[in-house]
Amino acid sequence: MEDPVVRQRSSNIENILKELKIDYKITGDEAVACCPSHDDRHPSWSVNLRNGAHHCFACGFKGSLASLVAFVLRYNYQEAVLWLSARLGWWKATQWWEENERNTNYAPGYMRLDESELALFTFPPPEALNSRRITAESAAKYDVMWNPQRGSWILPIRDPYNNDLWGWQEKNDRLFRNFPHGVRKSQTLFGAGTFVHGSTVLLVESPIDCVRLDAIGYSGGLSGFGVSTSDRQLAIVQRVSEHLVLCLDNDSAGLSETARICREFRGVKSIDVFSYGLSEGKDPGELSEVEVAEGISGAISSIRWLKTYDAVQRHITSLPDRASREISLKEELTRRLLNGSWQNGHRDSSSRAII
Ligand SMILES: [Zn+2]
Repeated sequence: MEDPVVRQRSSNIENILKELKIDYKITGDEAVACCPSHDDRHPSWSVNLRNGAHHCFACGFKGSLASLVAFVLRYNYQEAVLWLSARLGWWKATQWWEENERNTNYAPGYMRLDESELALFTFPPPEALNSRRITAESAAKYDVMWNPQRGSWILPIRDPYNNDLWGWQEKNDRLFRNFPHGVRKSQTLFGAGTFVHGSTVLLVESPIDCVRLDAIGYSGGLSGFGVSTSDRQLAIVQRVSEHLVLCLDNDSAGLSETARICREFRGVKSIDVFSYGLSEGKDPGELSEVEVAEGISGAISSIRWLKTYDAVQRHITSLPDRASREISLKEELTRRLLNGSWQNGHRDSSSRAII
């Protein structure tokens, strides 16, 4: 039986078209009509009813739902967004979440939002893509969007198996939030929808780092939407791949989570740890292309990495005075890992090249 809430949402975009006095016919997921932009006698224009994207095959008129509203009602873009917000707004998802919050028999399918919830967002502008050194192709592949009202990234949170939309993570320099409140991001991984089964998983903290990795030729990025990685997320990793490279942030939270995963997965499967070497960046998104390539090809086996990490921890706690204890974990770990590589001749002999 079709979920009544989902059925109600699927008519959202149809209602918008009716309000714009567009005479359309439904074909699959599309509403087909005469193009509002040129003198069209045979319908050559269509609107996707899931996400509001529209396109005319005759004159090339195309864009988002907001751009259509602006065109038809002669609004500017901001006015069109406000007009749409009143009709498609996020309040529907919030209301739905509150209504379902008490449902203890949680199943991922119940979290599904309609794709039309994304209709207010746009494709990221070129300057945003450039600032993170990601390409339009990679952004499109990972379904990355942009909130033009706040100037923030929209990173969809989707079901790892059927790609249903559950919500999204929104972020910029000042803002970080997950929507809707309580979305079970720990039940999925960003990037699961495009991951090619059997290839190496590069586990990163930030979804945008998956996109950055893809832009420079590494398509195996998966992100848990933060530093902590749930059992379910690790189970998904285990199901889709035989080889995991942990590329969590090079800070104390990232290092401690890396150690936890190495410990828990010990002997279970092949895990290596990304080698930050002497690079300054704290995550793969901040590194140069060469640094990423070296970090992956020089990845350190989890056994050796964990042994070194534990030794550094013991060393730091055994130091007599406070001053020496303040020596950074990261610096000491870097020093010992690099020394190890040099003693072995060149790179860590137990690492594997995976390019
Ligand atoms: Zn047209």
